[in-house]
Amino acid sequence: MQVFFNLITGMKVMKFGGTSVGNPDRIKALIPLIDDDERKIVVLSAMSGTTNSLVEITDLLYAGNINEASLKNDELRSKYHQVVEELFATDTFRKEGHELIDSHFEYIRNFTLRVFTKLQEKAILAQGELISTSLFHLLLQERNIKSILLPALCFMRIDKDGEPDSFYIKENIKRELKNHTSENIIITQGFICRNAYGEIDNLKRGGSDFTASLIGAAVKASEIQIWTDINGFHNNDPRFVENTKVIRELSFDEAAELAYFGAKILHPSSVNPARESNIPVRLKNTMEPEDAGTLITSGSILQDYKAVAAKDGISVLRIRSDRMLMAYGFLRKVFEIFEAYRTPIDMITTSEVAVSITIDNSQFINQIAKDLKELGTVEIEENQTIVCVVGDFRTERTGSAPEIFEALNTIPLKMISYGGSPNSLSLLIDTTNKIEALRLLSKHLFN
Ligand code: ADP
Ligand code: ASP
Ligand code: MG
Repeated sequence: MQVFFNLITGMKVMKFGGTSVGNPDRIKALIPLIDDDERKIVVLSAMSGTTNSLVEITDLLYAGNINEASLKNDELRSKYHQVVEELFATDTFRKEGHELIDSHFEYIRNFTLRVFTKLQEKAILAQGELISTSLFHLLLQERNIKSILLPALCFMRIDKDGEPDSFYIKENIKRELKNHTSENIIITQGFICRNAYGEIDNLKRGGSDFTASLIGAAVKASEIQIWTDINGFHNNDPRFVENTKVIRELSFDEAAELAYFGAKILHPSSVNPARESNIPVRLKNTMEPEDAGTLITSGSILQDYKAVAAKDGISVLRIRSDRMLMAYGFLRKVFEIFEAYRTPIDMITTSEVAVSITIDNSQFINQIAKDLKELGTVEIEENQTIVCVVGDFRTERTGSAPEIFEALNTIPLKMISYGGSPNSLSLLIDTTNKIEALRLLSKHLFN
């Protein structure tokens, strides 16, 4: 019993993202990172660019553009045959690799012959992770390194609401692990899962981080490591701002807010499972493995300003009604409309006669606006961005915010959310002002 316990819990979970498996050399470079005596679960993403290409193929199929979808499919297939040529050292394994690639791309090609539905779209999107993990497993076999490939579709599951089914995941991964106690390296796919009806589905773009965290929680891992192409969490988005710096320690709450409000390095939901099970998350760079990276735990050192993140694709709905004045129950009616369309609210500000609400999923925005018009006048503004500053915003402190407003005094601020969280302050701005706002915040808060 004790033996099983140690073979199933207390392992490390190591997730390698798209760039970490982005070309044959990068894939080979993973071996020294995982080949030691410790038992571990290795979660792999698709090679970078693959999921984007698969999305293009499914978009073409939805549009009925079968010829172009087939061309794209062939293009990706030849790219993978080239990967196989460079990845393996022996003809035997090259042959196996080529056969594997052919079987996946034949599978995708078959979908061009039928009516195309959501079900088939999800099955195509799953191919990237299925290929990367199979190739890696094959590479380890060629190098005589013992490993097993544990299909995520055997244990990773979401429920009817699209939320992870933690009980199912835990029970099933434990059962699978009990069947494989002699291998130290357990490889599985990030991103992909089954839904409540047993169909292939996924955890949304960037979802491999979420897979790693869900597995970490299910097996009570000692640590969840997210390996990527940068030395951990930076204090601003390095794609838009120069001289950003790595943050060595973050609390779960701080990391969750940054991830939710747009820091691409982590999937928005990926902190929750780790936080609930109190499992440390470490962000590391596969290109600089000796660097300590960022450690995310329940404790962290408070700092006035720690980091800034931005989330695009936000729409704001402004509801104005004199009926709100001194009335109770008005906000409930407003919220019920969003609930009816299963649309989560991100930010909210109110006055006596008006309320502004932001959403990031505008699928039902017109229906929501139509229903809200029963309550008052409604105005919609799209192409908005939420900027989130994470730091020490405990309400008993004085002087937490002036630097932020001073930094942004040239940017129109559409909404301000302060006091909702002790870790963050959020602002709504036009997306056209995002890069300037991020740069100004870095200049004033961190340099
Ligand atoms: P992976 O393919 O490994 O999952 P991602 O591209 O999803 O990698 O995430 C890593 C990228 O996130 C970095 O290369 C960086 O450009 C971007 N990024 C955005 N915000 C941050 C941030 N605050 N800190 C670090 N990286 C960030
Ligand atoms: N391959 C998926 C994506 O590109 C999942 C991931 O990389 O985390 O979104
Ligand atoms: Mg990612």
